[in-house]
Amino acid sequence: MKCPICKSNVKPGDPEIPFCSARCRLLDLGNWASERYSIPAPITDPDELERVLSLQQKKLDEA
Ligand SMILES: [Zn+2]
Repeated sequence: MKCPICKSNVKPGDPEIPFCSARCRLLDLGNWASERYSIPAPITDPDELERVLSLQQKKLDEA
């Protein structure tokens, strides 16, 4: 099994499956968030990603 982000091998039973690491999982979430929220570039900075997601969460909470 290969990580969809960095294509490195993922061990069966890895807690982050299908990603190789929490970082790749975050990056995938960043890609998704970029598409979902029309952010011009994929987010590669975990802090920035967290900021964007918390803003979106706030909007959802207010809706
Ligand atoms: Zn990876």
